Amino acid sequence: MSAPDAAVDDELFREILLDHYRHPRHHGLVTPSDAKEHGHNPLCGDEVDISLRLRDGRLEAVGFEGQGCSISMASASMMAEEIDGKSLAEVRDLIQRFRGLLVEGRDPGELGEMGDLEALTGVRRYVARIKCAMLPWTALEAGLEKVNG
Ligand code: ZN
Repeated sequence: MSAPDAAVDDELFREILLDHYRHPRHHGLVTPSDAKEHGHNPLCGDEVDISLRLRDGRLEAVGFEGQGCSISMASASMMAEEIDGKSLAEVRDLIQRFRGLLVEGRDPGELGEMGDLEALTGVRRYVARIKCAMLPWTALEAGLEKVNG
């Protein structure tokens, strides 16, 4: 097994990130919603609102709105795309794996398939930006706790 060329990876990741930033998926809050959560990252000024609707233990709909840097907004878009339609257990698992990738610095290869989210791996090199990438996820986690009452 040979490691992919780092520069090519970065270029690809940058393209994925910018694509989500410019064309956000699941943009806009869902109505009706079972939970709505606001997240704020004072270090960067990022603001995000996450809303979700559940049906039979699955995320039937998820949407976000916000203002912030490209990393926070791209992360929200990627997150919404990945969690849409998943069961709550799968969503919680993905939150833990994403945290493992960004905060704990674990190898993407050992965390399982994460789709476009792997494009955020490079953010780990910039400690201040990890909070940007994690912002929608911490809001999602808080929203899920409310749903479970
Ligand atoms: Zn930011």
